[in-house]
Amino acid sequence: MLLTQSIPLVEERISNACARAGRDRNEVQIIAVTKYVSLETTGLVLQHGLQHIGENRWQDAQAKWEAFGDQGTWHFIGHLQTNKVKDVVGKFAYIHSLDRLSLAKEIDKKAAALGITAQCFIQLNVSGEESKYGLPPEEFAGFIDAIRSREHIRVVGLMTMAPYEAEPEATRPVFRGLRELRDELNRNKVLGYEVPHLSMGMSNDFEVAIEEGATWIRLGSVLVGKE
Ligand SMILES: *Cc1c(COP(=O)(O)O)cnc(C)c1O
Repeated sequence: MLLTQSIPLVEERISNACARAGRDRNEVQIIAVTKYVSLETTGLVLQHGLQHIGENRWQDAQAKWEAFGDQGTWHFIGHLQTNKVKDVVGKFAYIHSLDRLSLAKEIDKKAAALGITAQCFIQLNVSGEESKYGLPPEEFAGFIDAIRSREHIRVVGLMTMAPYEAEPEATRPVFRGLRELRDELNRNKVLGYEVPHLSMGMSNDFEVAIEEGATWIRLGSVLVGKE
């Protein structure tokens, strides 16, 4: 599908989901996930005014970032190997997949060397699905405690992936669970600052995610397509 068709269709579905939930459309931002498409199409995505680009592997993202890294804002959304941290931190404004201490340590170290603060989402495995990455919710509080002294990491939100469901409604408990974890974190005030964001919802389930409070949705196939 052409971007000129998919963008208005997705926009309408986002607006409707916001309306159902009594939310303002401006509370939800789109990350256009370009992992299935070429360098050329990634350029078109930016030209069409989508400013947030999501990629899940540095090896695939590199050429695109070198061509367009100065345009838009780049989000690293995939599992991040510790040895790729040096490539990603400083180039991607947001990392959505902080899910273990060894990774936090590397990100903090690289950000310190660059004199920046890395904006991170903590990825949680809310569904408990074995194949998915992400921190188990029962380890969340301990993890926060262990990373809060790392000055070059700023936790901006929580991220999760719901398992694919033929009936998207079935993902609702996963998204609700992530929202509750964020709300609890903010109530406990352990970080000393507010964590505003929820990165949740993909092509199959973004409307349910919006109804449950998503502030960032990550859309690949429904928006950018597959090549
Ligand atoms: C691929 C991917 C997406 C987008 O997937 P679609 O279902 O095509 O929208 C979103 N988030 C992550 C982490 C991904 O890897």
